[in-house]
Amino acid sequence: MKKLLIRNGRVICPATGQDGIADVLIEDGRIAAVGPNLTAPGADTLDAAGLVVAPGFIDIHVHLREPGFTHAETIATGSRAAAAGGFTTVCCMPNTNPVNDSATVTTYIVEKARREAVVNVFPIGAITKGSGGEELAAIGSMVAAGAVAISDDGRPVMNARVMRRAMETARALDIPVIQHCEDLNLSAGGDMHECADSVRLGLRGIPAAAEDVMVARDILLAELTGARYHIAHISTRNAVAMAGFARRRGLPVTCEATPHHIALHTGHMRPYDSSYKMKPPLRGPEHVEAVVEGIVNGAVDCLVTDHAPHAGDDKMQEFERCPFGIIGLETALGIALEVLVHSGRIPLSRLIALFTSEPARVIGWKGEQARGALKPGYAGDVTVFHPEYPWTYDVKNSLSKSANTPFNGRTFRGGPIVTVVGGEIVWRAPGF
Ligand SMILES: [Zn+2]
Repeated sequence: MKKLLIRNGRVICPATGQDGIADVLIEDGRIAAVGPNLTAPGADTLDAAGLVVAPGFIDIHVHLREPGFTHAETIATGSRAAAAGGFTTVCCMPNTNPVNDSATVTTYIVEKARREAVVNVFPIGAITKGSGGEELAAIGSMVAAGAVAISDDGRPVMNARVMRRAMETARALDIPVIQHCEDLNLSAGGDMHECADSVRLGLRGIPAAAEDVMVARDILLAELTGARYHIAHISTRNAVAMAGFARRRGLPVTCEATPHHIALHTGHMRPYDSSYKMKPPLRGPEHVEAVVEGIVNGAVDCLVTDHAPHAGDDKMQEFERCPFGIIGLETALGIALEVLVHSGRIPLSRLIALFTSEPARVIGWKGEQARGALKPGYAGDVTVFHPEYPWTYDVKNSLSKSANTPFNGRTFRGGPIVTVVGGEIVWRAPGF
């Protein structure tokens, strides 16, 4: 039986409340024991002295671009970038070509990931056929094939009747519905957040209200249907307030925030630099502070990267023409440490929860698939990181196929050191 013993690290597991020096033993791909001075004859060992040992990080919002856009990313390369960012599990959005709206595509992704990915990959199925917004996709058969949630990410479900039916279906299957909240009539033609900076930069604006009205509508539909509803990449003050409101009403509403939406605001945008173009757009400082405060007070449940690779040729166009989105897997921990922990806004254990137990709760993995905690029987996935060491992100060394990031050249304090998936070391920081 294959064994890995991770020794002498500072083990922090938010789900069990543990925080102290201990060993973690993984046997046969699962957590076997956590405690001081464990012995395991024949085990491989990893010395984690001076490092934090956490449950494997989970990112429930990434774009792996396969099938269809493999010039930008593949399941193989995206999963390696995930491992380099400390992630052991990712959920991939369905806006591939073809769209993941059937069991055939879901199965293709599951099988391809089994052969080529170095981290766990769980597909998210489309809500509607072709993510066209009108006719429900084959949701039940996608779930049977391994889909863990549904979303038309990149495209919102504008039709409220269709969204209601999707929620009723999701409720019966006990999966979350993840919505990219954007009223397309309000956002139409916009390239960045509507504010004084959009006037200054001469770019067409997307008002915060484009996100807010969709969140408001969907919370009402979640109340109507009882479905688990998850707000993707929340970015506005009112949306955070409404997520908190829904929580206090006892509704099964959750939401996620991205590192870039808490690290950057419109004042950081450089003229004509398309690596600052994403959806939702970077917002003004008052919105950024509201999202951070939501993370502090619990209105925001988890962090995700929305890793959105675009090949160089696509992203090198003029601002108005280039696609939305940036890569984010390798910089997520560094950014989150900087904005949330080193600033004193949240303790390290809460940060780890945002990457582990909280996203696991949003998806709801159970039984054989249980993950996000260092408990015996859970997936043998571990993220080992250093909370302090300085390093500089050079996108030339990225394991992603794409390089669209506003964080190239940024120096971070703390980052991933070793990534363990199912008891196997799948990535080590250079020099470690
Ligand atoms: Zn989206």
